[in-house]
Order: sequence, then C-alpha cells, then structure tokens
Amino acid sequence: MKDKAIQIENLSVYYGETPALTGVCLDIGISEYLGIIGPNGGGKSTLLKAILGLVPISTGRIKIYDHGDKRKEVIGYVPQYTSFDKRFPITLLEVVMTARLRNGLSPFFRFVPKDMEMAYELIEKVGLKGLENRQISELSGGEFQKMLIARALTLKPRILLLDEPTANVDENARGQIYNLLAELNKDITIVLVTHDLFAVSSQVEKLACINGKLIYHGEPELSENIVNRLYGCPVDLIAHGVPHRVLRRH
Ligand code: ADP
Repeated sequence: MKDKAIQIENLSVYYGETPALTGVCLDIGISEYLGIIGPNGGGKSTLLKAILGLVPISTGRIKIYDHGDKRKEVIGYVPQYTSFDKRFPITLLEVVMTARLRNGLSPFFRFVPKDMEMAYELIEKVGLKGLENRQISELSGGEFQKMLIARALTLKPRILLLDEPTANVDENARGQIYNLLAELNKDITIVLVTHDLFAVSSQVEKLACINGKLIYHGEPELSENIVNRLYGCPVDLIAHGVPHRVLRRH
C-alpha cells in the first residue's frame, strides 16, 4: 500500500434515522486512482461529502493526510452535474474563479489578477480555451464538466473527488475527461464515483463497491458474486453492456 491520502475507519452516516453508510473502512493511497461504483442510493455521494466534511459523521473517523480539520484545503470536489442551476447568468471564467473567493459571491467581491491568470491557465489545461466568456447555459454537457474540473483545480488540491463527471457527456468528451484525469493523476490522488463501467475496466487503478456498506475493495475486476451483492442482478448488468473483462473469469 502506498502512503495514505485518506483513511476511513468504521464510518457511518445517518440522515435522521436512515442509514446511508454503515461501518465503512477504506484506505486510499497517495496518488491512487480509485473508482467507486454502486447502485443509486448506495451512499457514494454521501461518502464523498463525508470526506469533505459536508455531512455529519455518526460513527468512525476520516483522516486526510495529516491535515486534520484543514481537509478542505487539500481536496478539490467536482459535484454532480445536476446539483447546478445552469440558468444562472454567469460565464465559464467566473465560475472557475469563484472557487478562489474565500467568502463566496458577495456584492463587493474582487478577483485578484493572479487568480485570473491561474483561471485562464486551468481553462486551457482542461481544453476550454476560447470559451472563457461563454454563459454556462450555452455550454455542452462535456464543456460544463470540464469547467467544474478546472474550478476544482483552482485551489491546487492534492486530492480530487469527482461525482459522476461523465454523466451527460458525449463519447468524445468522455474520452477527453478520462485523458485529463489520467494526466492529473500523475500528481493528484483521484476518487471517481461513476456508473461508467468503461472507467472501471480501463481507467481506474483500484475499485471500491458500495451499497450502504463497503462490499468490495481491490483490483478493478468484478466477480459475479460481487456484482450480485452490489446490484442484486448480475444478468441485467451484463445485458446492459458491462465490458466482459471487468468480470473475473468464472
Ligand atoms: P448515491 O450517491 O450512491 O446515489 P447517496 O449518497 O446520494 O447515494 O444517498 C444514500 C442514501 O441517503 C439514499 O437512501 C438517499 O435517499 C439518502 N440521502 C441522501 N442525501 C440525503 C439527504 N440530504 N437527506 C436525507 N436522505 C438523504
């Protein structure tokens, strides 16, 4: 095991009386590329939010490097696409730069030139050069996701958490996003929540399967037994196009 970027011990998260996660133990190594899969409602987003400190933890603890409560400064977060109102009148450049505002958008906010320069660089890095002044309502799904990645990178994170960054994107953009993540993974630990089994079969280095609890953690290779415990329907899953090499020989 590489040195650890994130250590999760016996994590449980409840929303009221409802358990979203129970007894999760998971270590993520520095510069690891971890994929997380599981059914809808399985607790994947909750796990990311718990790592970020955005939901209260009922039991257990999460250690981020040795930073303790400064965790937000080392983690970049790309939330689910659906959590944004795309009608908000703001440009791509402004969205990327807002991550640098310590107090969020306020009536008298100011960007410093250094932040602007960095935003331009990151926009180019994610492949969106030239679209800086486009309204976000006029971006494609892929462009929107790349913008969110640029935004997450503005705080120079050592860990990047992404919640389904290839949902709502076309085939071409999906490939570009995976290439970008592979490039970023040279320096940054990546945790990718996904429904995309292509990512599982060809991109990630380690896999965690979550359905309320941790069902599997290891190589990105699934046995029918794991798929069955995870989704309860192996035949359906295969019929919906799981690349065969994801499944271990049986
Ligand atoms: P996933 O990301 O795997 O789809 P989530 O982490 O979003 O799963 O949800 C896990 C469980 O917690 C689900 O049963 C969901 O309905 C519930 N849940 C998520 N967010 C909230 C919330 N803010 N309030 C109440 N229940 C929630």
